[in-house]
Amino acid sequence: MKNTRLTTLCLFLLVGPALAISAGIPVYLDPSKNIEQRVEDALSRMTLEEKVAMCHAQSKFSSKGVPSLGIPEIWMSDGPHGVREEIEWDSWNPAKWSNDYCTAFPALTCLAATFDLNLSLQYGVAVGEEARYREKDILLGPGGNIYRTPLNGRNFEYMGEDPYLASKMIVPYIKGVQKNGVAVSVKHFALNNQEVDRDRVDVEVGDRALREIYLPAFKAAVQEGGAWTIMGSYNKYKGQHCCHNDILLNQILKKEWGFDGVVLSDWGGTHNTKEAALNGLDIEMGSYTNGMTSGTGNAYDSYYLANPFLDLLKKGEIPLAVIDDKARRILRLQMRTNLNPNRPFGRFVCKDHSAVARTVASNGIVLLKNTRNLLPIAPGKYKRIAVIGENATKSLTKGGGSSELKSAYEVSPLDALKAMYGSSVEYASGYASGNPTYGRELKPSQNTGKLFDEAIELAKKSDLILYIGGLNKNHLQDCEGGDRTQFNLPFGQDSLIHKLLIINPNIVVVLVGGNGVAMPWLNQVQALVQSWYLGSESGNALVDVLSGKVNPSGKLPFSIPKKLTDNAAHFYGNQSYPGVNKKQTYFEDIFVGYRWFDTKKIEPQFAFGYGLSYTQFKYGKPVLEKKSIQAKDSLTVSLNLKNVGAVDGAEVVQLYVSQNKPSLVRPQKELKAFTKVFLRAGEEKLVKLSVKVSDFAYYNDKLQQWSLEKGGYKLMVAAASNDVKNVLDVEISE
Ligand code: BGC
Repeated sequence: MKNTRLTTLCLFLLVGPALAISAGIPVYLDPSKNIEQRVEDALSRMTLEEKVAMCHAQSKFSSKGVPSLGIPEIWMSDGPHGVREEIEWDSWNPAKWSNDYCTAFPALTCLAATFDLNLSLQYGVAVGEEARYREKDILLGPGGNIYRTPLNGRNFEYMGEDPYLASKMIVPYIKGVQKNGVAVSVKHFALNNQEVDRDRVDVEVGDRALREIYLPAFKAAVQEGGAWTIMGSYNKYKGQHCCHNDILLNQILKKEWGFDGVVLSDWGGTHNTKEAALNGLDIEMGSYTNGMTSGTGNAYDSYYLANPFLDLLKKGEIPLAVIDDKARRILRLQMRTNLNPNRPFGRFVCKDHSAVARTVASNGIVLLKNTRNLLPIAPGKYKRIAVIGENATKSLTKGGGSSELKSAYEVSPLDALKAMYGSSVEYASGYASGNPTYGRELKPSQNTGKLFDEAIELAKKSDLILYIGGLNKNHLQDCEGGDRTQFNLPFGQDSLIHKLLIINPNIVVVLVGGNGVAMPWLNQVQALVQSWYLGSESGNALVDVLSGKVNPSGKLPFSIPKKLTDNAAHFYGNQSYPGVNKKQTYFEDIFVGYRWFDTKKIEPQFAFGYGLSYTQFKYGKPVLEKKSIQAKDSLTVSLNLKNVGAVDGAEVVQLYVSQNKPSLVRPQKELKAFTKVFLRAGEEKLVKLSVKVSDFAYYNDKLQQWSLEKGGYKLMVAAASNDVKNVLDVEISE
């Protein structure tokens, strides 16, 4: 399969463009010509059948090229946290290759928690290099959906609850991946904010919430990140499946945002030929032909965008301009990826990628509580450290669904703790959750009562307990295809933690996961750490933070409620989540996450943007250049920030905006800028936060456009959404 593409490109790489041109190289293969010229030239040489053949899968993760023209096939891979293992041509079984053990990068919740744009770029470059080395043309990620409920099984693949944070963090990732000549596929467009009934639930959401909360990350991905492909979602919007949704794909994505790339369907997300043809889908993937083809390729010919599409085109029921538009988009994607002879060759499983994975991981871990400075733990301070909890040893790169990785290595927390603290470390799992399986839940094989008792016995003999538990990537935890069924910790962990606390109050609780959980034991726990699915370097990164080698600087990318009904989606009952009779309404409208907690005056357990450090920061008085501004301006808030503690550290300075007298209801604050600042102990720096005044606008659903009202606004400099340090007034004059 790969030979055709290689021969085509090798002409350039080996003999060079000059010779190739003198040999009569056609325009579509000539990299000195502009992309649009090349696309038109290729298109003019193709038959109708060849164009249609490009619009659907030929295997689980590839689509056809144009063999007669030497135009390569397109090869795709999940995404978003690493390059997925090879699977068979037409089944989900592993292909059992031995060259696809990858670097597992931290899940995107962790990346979001770093609040660090530079790390997002490094992450994108590294995962893009891995995809390129594995000869992938499209990496299926990043995820741009919004954290609406803590039960969503796929929140770990997304970037939290705030549209501004997600919009900012998604852009460098995309640029980094695409630098490698590998396209991203930003998923799942749009409103795929739960896994329950994901393939059929019809989401009813107001235009304001759609525009202000659920679309900004996708818009930024397209307009600022320049994403080359987008993946439609499984669910419906306004009664139409999102993989062929006229409003989302034709009107908003392609027309309004000017997206010139390719829309892929989610795997099995296509349901109708006419809609797929006319409502913006370009390549249909994963319709259910599992095991039907036995290598003949026939089943793929019956895809909605295969023979049925060809028939309608031939009969004149669908205009030829429709197929030309799709073929043009696909060819343009190829000029950017596998028909670009100048793209780099990538790298795979190397020290640099491990270093990126470790840095993102340690910078995304969030310290939520640290009374009496139980953390960091100096080596030698405790004679006997009991490590308890299954996540100290369980592989968390496995499971989770399509983002599962066959990682080259995975350092467990227990191994890293033993390396740091030596023989003082002893382990008991305390509970067992069974193996990660996608779509089925296996009962734990071990005797849970025995595991519980062993953990208690170990705790009795120890000076310090490091509890490493939380969620995992089993079905109905943080995993595709289902949501969590409870807000509490699973597998009896609440009782275990309660019992451990009675035995020894010196306990550090580390929660691994991609979601917030109930914390009935919180008051008694001295130190609490929110960790994530950290990938290959997970143990090293966690121990970097626990030991103080790295000072924690992650901030929560979502609010954690005290109880589930404090969360807006759950407040309104079943019609809101998970929906009734396959329909759901987002009653909370724009009041998602901290926007809801602020407005309803509900105190969250932990607020969006919150996270502690081993040092303290002093916020100076902020200054604004001028108090009266115009809509076309940008404004800059400056303040001095000082590290007043004894260790180096980094702080995320956040800027929220609110309008004094809006003509319609608006959130009490909305994040509009942030910056991460590293300061040595005792160091002070001038910090600047810039905002475009046009970003103060709200979406006016009556006028169907963004509106910016004149008048007074407040700018809040904050260390978290519930920790405002200073407020500045500003007036938009015109
Ligand atoms: C998921 C996508 C994924 C695709 C291919 C689908 O089930 O929703 O995120 O990229 O499978 O594995």
